[in-house]
Order: sequence, then C-alpha cells, then structure tokens
Amino acid sequence: MKNEHVFDLLKEEEVERVDSLSKDYVRFLTTVKTERVCVENFVDELKKRGFDELNPKQGFFTYRNKFLACWKSGTKPLTEGIKIIVSHIDTPRLDLKLHPLFEEMDLSFLKTHYYGGIKKYHWVAMPLALHGIVVKRDGSSVKIRIGEEDNEPVFTICDLLPHLGRKKQEEKKLSEAIPAENLNILFGGIPFEKKAKGKKEEKERVKKRILKILEDRYGITEADFVSAEIFAVPAGQAKFVGLDEAFIGGYGQDDRVCAFTSFRAFLEVTAPSYTTLVLFMDREEIGSEGNTSAKSRIFEKLIYRLIKAQGLPPTPDNFFEIMHHTKALSADVTAGIDPNYLEVHDKLNDAKVGYGVVISRYTGHGGKYMANEAHAEYMGYLRDLFEKKDVVYQVCSMGKVDEGGGGTVSKYFASYGMDIVDIGPPLLSMHSPFEILHKGDLYMTYKAFKVFLES
Ligand code: MN
Ligand code: MN
Repeated sequence: MKNEHVFDLLKEEEVERVDSLSKDYVRFLTTVKTERVCVENFVDELKKRGFDELNPKQGFFTYRNKFLACWKSGTKPLTEGIKIIVSHIDTPRLDLKLHPLFEEMDLSFLKTHYYGGIKKYHWVAMPLALHGIVVKRDGSSVKIRIGEEDNEPVFTICDLLPHLGRKKQEEKKLSEAIPAENLNILFGGIPFEKKAKGKKEEKERVKKRILKILEDRYGITEADFVSAEIFAVPAGQAKFVGLDEAFIGGYGQDDRVCAFTSFRAFLEVTAPSYTTLVLFMDREEIGSEGNTSAKSRIFEKLIYRLIKAQGLPPTPDNFFEIMHHTKALSADVTAGIDPNYLEVHDKLNDAKVGYGVVISRYTGHGGKYMANEAHAEYMGYLRDLFEKKDVVYQVCSMGKVDEGGGGTVSKYFASYGMDIVDIGPPLLSMHSPFEILHKGDLYMTYKAFKVFLES
C-alpha cells in the first residue's frame, strides 16, 4: 500500500478550486481568532442563506455565544440516523487574569493565564492583539478588538536579552525557561500628569493614565475586568508560506481549519438523504469542560429538539435509536511528520504533509488510554466512500507509541452510541502561534466532509 501526493491526483478542474478555497481560508483565519467571533461569523452567513434559529428544515442553534449547531433535514426520517461533523472553535491563547492591570518601574502590564497547551517561549517578543468582550454590571457589553488594523497599536510580552539570559534561561529546561507568571503584556508607559514641583510623588501614574484611556475609549473601569473575556492572540494576517505558496501559515488552525471546511461543505450540500448536522464546540483545548463543551449535555438538548420538530415523541428510546444509526466525524487536526524531528514519528504510520486528509483511527496515549477507536466496520465504510469519490486520504496514528499523545471530542460523542472517528488535515508547528497547513490537505479535508455529508 502506498500513499499518494494530493497534487499527483488532483483533477485539472480542481487545481483552481484549491487556490480559491485557500484564499477564502486565509481571509477567514485573519478575521476569526476567537470562538465568539467564529459563531458570529457563521450565524451571519447562515442568516444570509435563509437559515432560521430552530427551523426544522434548515436551522441553527447557538448556546452562550460559543457553541453553534446547524442542520439541513434529510429525506430519510431521523430514526434512520444522522450525519454529524463536529469540530472545535477554541484555540490555545493567553487569557487576561481577573485583576490583570499593574504597574512596575513606570511600565504598565497586563497579567495573563494561558489557556490550552502552549509552549510559553512562543509567546514572547512577538506582536499580540487583544480580542474579547467586557460585560458591565448593567448587562451591556463592549467588544474588544485591538491590534489588527494598520492604525492600531499592538501589544507584546518582553523577553530577556541573551546577554543576561544565560543562567536565568539558557541553562534551564525549555518548559521552565519562561515562567507562566512572567507572561505579562506590556500595556503602557506614559504617566498621567506631570509631576508637580515640591509635591509628593503620586503612585501608579502610568496605570492611572491607562485606566483613563480605557474609560474614555471603551467606557470600562478596572472592576469590569472580572466580568470580561479578553484574550491575547498573535496579531496580524494569515499568509501563504513557501516560494510555491504550497502552505498556509496562521494562528488557530487547530481547529478552525476543520470548522471552516466543514461549514463550507455543509453549506454546499443540497437535498441530503440523511439529516446533516454540523457542530462547533468550545473548550476542547482544556479537556472539554464547561457548559459549551462536548462533555456538556447541550448536544442531547439539541437532538431532543430536532426529534420534537419532526413530530416524534422526545423519548430516550428515540434518542438512542437515532444515535445507534448515526455516523459522525470528529473533525480535528493531527501532527504531520516534521523531517527535522523524525525521532518522534513512526514513518510508516504517521501523517505526511501534502498527502491528503488524515483518518486518525485512534488517539489517546500509552496503551490507547483515553482513546476512542473506530471499529473496523466503520473504517471499511469510510475507505470505500473516499475511494469511490476520489478523496486523497491517509490512515494514521500520531507519533511513536509512548512518545506522548492527545485527545479529541470523539470519545464524548461515542458514548451516545454513534460511530465516530477523528479526521482532519496534518499540521506542522501545531499549537504554535503560526501553524502550517498544506493547501492540498485543506482541499481534501473539505472534499472528504462534503462527500460524507452527501452520502
Ligand atoms: Mn484540535
Ligand atoms: Mn489542540
């Protein structure tokens, strides 16, 4: 058995589609950097296309502005099962702490708490933007998005100069070289008012001026930070990478590449025979905790609503009958083999960049702990589907056994009884501020999702 490169198998008419899809994706990555913005962006698109909230034929459902589901009803009844694609729209980042603002040596900073699996050294000495919302006591909210436009300032976390970093950083383990408590964002440096002669020096004058700016521009006070969600993310645009523009580089491709491709595939499907349901989950990067995550029971609520909308009694019997016949894809990225770090990969079993969408039959760690593993029967079904529809795909695991591992949302959905498997493109530099995707893999991921929903 031999895997083949996407560009060896692309049909003439597909080459241009790869490029136009890639350009749309670069624009999407540049604008959408948080789960809230992703939900907003998709809901706008759905409304434009005539989708209504909770419409049984073609509708959508949002929860707490961070979880989105959208569906098109099929010609077959729900009890024959549905087709689900689920991805996640949260990404590793730096959250502002609850009391973030402080001043030291006439420099003002914001304290952060990292969210998800980051390598801390990635986040220093680079431009950062702030995205999020502040909710005030009266329930009104202020959107924050600073650092993306040409005329806006950016923010940064300063690193130690090499001249003084020998003991403090270079002799340490990578994971300890930059402590989490040092990930403080440089936020200001001009004092509030000139020091009056003979008067005792006022404290925290820089912070005072920063607070004044926050109040004037956004109407927020220092106390409002406790009811805010503000994230620091890499500032700037996603870009094509490589002289031949083979790759797309940008922040948050795990897993917004699957959100983008599954949403695009979903919109294009017409008159499906099974009801198609596409889900966008939150909190995957921290283990799917909380009421917008895959571990919450929001999915059940949604299915019961769809059952009622079809005029069926909303019983557990009906729920599990549907789940029993349901086929699902857990759309998430995996690690592509990096030729510079072959020692962590199993060349025979890991994913090659440019060789198409990857079915990861199982994830987990050690002896397949914490893993959902797709059954042989379901793998057989997907193989046949992808072969028939010319989807370039590879079936892989991630890394050498006992080298590490990871998990996705698939096991939470598997617990309802549906068949589900992890599938998505391979990335290089995964979980870094500038993740790398091959555009051939982008296209084949989209194609795989589309043929799955249409089947
Ligand atoms: Mn992921
Ligand atoms: Mn991840």
